[in-house]
Amino acid sequence: METIITYFETISSLHRGLILAGGIALFWIIENSTPLHVFGYKKRNHAGINIFFTLTTIVVNFALAGLLLATANYAFEHNLGILNQIPDLNNIVYAVLGLLLLDLVGAYFAHWVQHRIPVLWRFHLIHHTDAYVDTTTANRHHPGESVIRFICTILAILIAGTPMWLVFLYQSLSVVFSQFNHANIQLPKKLDTFISYFLVSPDMHKVHHHYILPYTDTNYGNIFSIWDRIFGTFSKLSNSEIVYGIDTHQNIEHQSDIKSMLKIPFQKKIK
Ligand SMILES: [Zn+2]
Repeated sequence: METIITYFETISSLHRGLILAGGIALFWIIENSTPLHVFGYKKRNHAGINIFFTLTTIVVNFALAGLLLATANYAFEHNLGILNQIPDLNNIVYAVLGLLLLDLVGAYFAHWVQHRIPVLWRFHLIHHTDAYVDTTTANRHHPGESVIRFICTILAILIAGTPMWLVFLYQSLSVVFSQFNHANIQLPKKLDTFISYFLVSPDMHKVHHHYILPYTDTNYGNIFSIWDRIFGTFSKLSNSEIVYGIDTHQNIEHQSDIKSMLKIPFQKKIK
């Protein structure tokens, strides 16, 4: 555990980038060998668009990284947050509790709130316009959404009272989990169901990408599925019934034209 703590205390931007790129590469290879759906799309063109949005996400997070560090230090110095109230926790228990809290506030809540508040949904729906959900969809986020998620991460650090190494550990796990549960892959059904009791499995997250309500407003989880189960937002739908995309934005430019997608949040009429 000490090694993990030291590694994430000093993790470089290069290593964080390698984790992201390594995850895409790994799931890309698995998608090619055993895809869930044979899309018949131009995988590289599709990836190009999603990687553009991944890069804007990286830029936003890079530009604001200092604020995360300042928040984590502030929480520590002022004894803020849940972890700072519990003395002498075993390192592993401390890490798991921290990851759960960061996931609840920084991911589940951040995601839920974007589905609930119309002005935030305008930004998040770019993620849902993808008609070909695969591992590259994981970070298809409008830059505005990246800022919204960043603010929720700040809130999560203050509530959880997590040090920076735990935030970096969470973010690294989060990237790979998101790539995993968006990947166009299929696990043996029993394994997928078993995983979904505590972690977000590929089949579980795909339901969230079904094009119509109420399914779009379920399965918000990022790493842990327990939040959906606790808060009653867990749902099931078989892969054969799922249609990717979002009913209000099904034109091709909503899925594959970067400029149009960047403008979507600022359009006058939006459902
Ligand atoms: Zn969503």
